[in-house]
Amino acid sequence: MPEAFHPLDILRRKRDGLSLTTDEIDSLVSAVVSGQMSDAQIAAFLMATFLRGLNSDELTALTQAMRLSGEVLDPSPLGSFLVDKHSTGGVGDKTSLLIAPILAAAGLAAPTTAGVPGICVPMISGRSLGHTGGTLDKLETIPGFNTQLSLPRMLEVLRTCGAALAGQTPNLVPADRILYALRDHTSTVESPFLICASIMSKKLAEGLDALVLDVKTGSGAFLRSDDEARHLARLMVDTGEAAGTRTVALLTSMDQPLGRFAGNWVEVWECADILRGQPHPISADLIELSLHLSGHMLHLAGAAATPEAGATLAADLLRSGKAYHSWLQIVKAQGGDTDVFNHPAAFHKPAAKHTLTAAASGYLASMNCTEVGWAVQRLGASRTRPGDPVSAHAGIEMHAKLCDRIEAGQPLVTLFTEEEILLDEPVQMLRNTLEIRPSPPARIPLLREILTRENLSGHPA
Ligand code: URA
Repeated sequence: MPEAFHPLDILRRKRDGLSLTTDEIDSLVSAVVSGQMSDAQIAAFLMATFLRGLNSDELTALTQAMRLSGEVLDPSPLGSFLVDKHSTGGVGDKTSLLIAPILAAAGLAAPTTAGVPGICVPMISGRSLGHTGGTLDKLETIPGFNTQLSLPRMLEVLRTCGAALAGQTPNLVPADRILYALRDHTSTVESPFLICASIMSKKLAEGLDALVLDVKTGSGAFLRSDDEARHLARLMVDTGEAAGTRTVALLTSMDQPLGRFAGNWVEVWECADILRGQPHPISADLIELSLHLSGHMLHLAGAAATPEAGATLAADLLRSGKAYHSWLQIVKAQGGDTDVFNHPAAFHKPAAKHTLTAAASGYLASMNCTEVGWAVQRLGASRTRPGDPVSAHAGIEMHAKLCDRIEAGQPLVTLFTEEEILLDEPVQMLRNTLEIRPSPPARIPLLREILTRENLSGHPA
């Protein structure tokens, strides 16, 4: 017989710094989803958790209870190795649009005995959040592209293409929807424990064998310091591994927009150029990071002996055009018009643009990348309130990267918008934050650290 549920006992114990059992956490999450707990009680649990933290058993229990709070993807009919990537969010971060087709091409090249791709990527993505862009908003600029796939339809796309890119279904991890909304109202969003449970419950609901996390650090990341980012990365690696999913985290720099563009269609355009073998030189950091992440995914999937060999394989799949072929296949399977990729620049139709030039010669030395992200948002590329529309054609093009030599009068950044009136404020914001100095700054490495179960064992978070 199930034990009686006493929410006040649980709240008192957490408030006083005592540990909760797995059964208590299971009951609590069920009560959140069934409406048995009031918003005030849920808010009290969130604040107690924010202040007291969770030990690793509690975090594993919370993540699992949230994962199982609704429908989950059951990939077993495919018989493939399921792997995904998750980024904690950045400016111009479009690696998903390169990684999904690279991994899909690798999966198609190594089918199972049933003829299904040997590796599949069930990429369930989000929309813009704060100053960062969202993969779904970018994909939806492709005419006809459907990001709202049911789980059975997602399995069909995976079976034929090896990757699918879609939004969360209404029933996937409903506990997170409720908790997240209350976190937003109670100043408890920033808890690394609550962030970990929120992200990992959704990723583990995909039924993954392996997960590679891109944990951003630097001026454009949600967690600015390396220490905070490392703590979250450790929690996520431990939680993934405890759930039986091989999990690796890469700590990477978000000190400037990744690649050439930040926005929606412009980011798809940048990736189309890379996939078609015509990369712009400013896209070099985007390609480098995508190859690192793909390399780890291919290694975990057993397609490469090391992450470095995985990165080489990923580069081959890009260079040979196989990843582009996969990209076209995925877009078609999700209802998108692939003709736009023949002339991606022609599809970009901003109503107004403005180019900022360097006032003096020197080196591009620093910027507040969060401020750059807010400038992109104010041009219309992301939303201020959930549900707001976003502009397909708003965004920015970077003409220089940190440490680049700049001559006075040289273009630094071009801003695009669909409403001319939206230009003034972002122009000012970018003018204020892009700093040119006489001598070059120290170069910040793109890949800062790699956290795995092997190098974390013996070093508890
Ligand atoms: N992304 C999520 O899905 N959840 C968080 O808590 C933070 C970022």
